[in-house]
Order: sequence, then C-alpha cells, then structure tokens
Amino acid sequence: MCRHLAYLGPPRTLAELLTAPPHSLYQQSWAPLRQRHGTVNADGFGIGWYPPEDGTEPARYRRAVPIWADPNLPDLTRTIRSAAVLAAVRSATAGTSQDEAAAAPYRTGRWLFSHNGAIDDWTGLPADAGLRLDAAELLAMEASCDSALLWVMVSRRLRAGDTPGDALAAVVRQTRAARPGARLNLLLTDGRSIAATRHGDTLWYRAAADRVTVASEPSPTPDGWREAPDQSLLLATRHTVRILRLSGTPAGAPAVPVAERTRT
Ligand code: GLN
Repeated sequence: MCRHLAYLGPPRTLAELLTAPPHSLYQQSWAPLRQRHGTVNADGFGIGWYPPEDGTEPARYRRAVPIWADPNLPDLTRTIRSAAVLAAVRSATAGTSQDEAAAAPYRTGRWLFSHNGAIDDWTGLPADAGLRLDAAELLAMEASCDSALLWVMVSRRLRAGDTPGDALAAVVRQTRAARPGARLNLLLTDGRSIAATRHGDTLWYRAAADRVTVASEPSPTPDGWREAPDQSLLLATRHTVRILRLSGTPAGAPAVPVAERTRT
C-alpha cells in the first residue's frame, strides 16, 4: 500500500504540506504507522500541484527513486507554493511497471488521481467490470499498473459527466464485484474539491475553517484528525467534508451520508 495525501486551502509550500509536519508523507515513506500491506514506500513518489492563479493543468514532479533519495526535492519543496496539492509515496505492487510513469498522481486535464491498494490479476479483469478499453484508452494508459487502469475507468466516467464521487464509487463497486479482495483507496482532485474512497486501507482527514487535508495516515498527535470509516466515500472542499457510505449501496443509488461537516 502506498500512502497518499491531498490538500486544499491557503497557499503553502510543498515543504509545509509534505515534508515538515510531524509524521509527514515524507516520513511515511520509510516509517508508516498504519500501513496494512507492505512495509516501506520506496518505489517512487509523485507530487501534483496547481500553480497559483493559473486555471490550467496542474504540474507534476514524479520520480522512481525513494523520496528521501532525491537531492532535488528540498529546493523544490521550499520554493513551490500551492493552494491545492495531491502527492503519494509508492510501494509497487508485483507485476506493475517500476518507472516514474507508474508513480501517482496520474493526470488528465485538471484532474489528479492516486490509488492506495492492489487488484489481484488486474490484467485479467473481465469486460463486465467496465473494461472494454478502446485503442485510444489503452494507449493513453500512463503505465502498466492496476492504478493506471483504475484511472482509465474513473476518467472515462468523468468525461461522461459523472460527479467525482459517483465516478469513484462506481469504479469501486465494479472492481470489487469482479475482484472481492481488491483494495481500493482512491483519491481524486481537480484543485477545488477532493473525492476519496476508503476500501481496504486507512483514510483520515483534518478540516479547519478554510482548509482540508485528506491522507492515508494522520499525525500521531490528536490535533483534529478524524478517521473515515471503512467502505466510505469522502467528499471535501476547502469548507466542507461529507462522508457517505460505500458498502451495500446498490449501483446507481444515492449514498447515505454518515457524517457531514460544514464551516464557512
Ligand atoms: N498498485 C499500485 C501500484 O503498484 C498501488 C500500490 C500501493 O498502494 N502500494 O502503484
């Protein structure tokens, strides 16, 4: 399992978000505290951020080396500021490609996407799991990786007009119907909102008046972090967090809110 994080709020340096906090994503690469599968996240990392006052695509920096082994990172993280960030450290699943193209975040247009988890026998998923890839979709896959395949499935739904939450929930339902043991913690942002699923691993969030962080792991001190329940869908903006139930929700049915929090 990899570890991932998304942030929306006042502009912060990447260091303030990713490397400086106690038990930061950086530290979680070699010493995760709640990771249920795998031990370290040393197979690469990626950072996606939305340039301030720029309505275009987010920028990405991804490497196939452990995050602590990149000598360029300190200069980048202390000088780049953003109000919207999605980052991940990777523990590669066997049978996936190892190059930087398989390091999240995946990107299409304004969207950034990450996946904590694994799908067994992902290359053999049946067509009824939503997988009739046409040639263009196949060629657009960024990497030979279960996460890249999930991103094709999610982004196709976004293109068709699904909301981010509906797209993630539908892909989780389709995938687990074909692979009940799949672990599917998905994380998606367009720089204005965050959608995330908890399905098989941990998910936490911290919300304040004007900012929200969604992450695989909280900091060890109880400073406002809350845990999202397993089988849930989390939808957040800078000012709101809603948690909906994933499990047992039939395809197409509206999910039931299990927690809601709004501050303006
Ligand atoms: N299966 C994905 C990959 O190989 C995610 C891995 C993980 O969560 N450890 O990148």
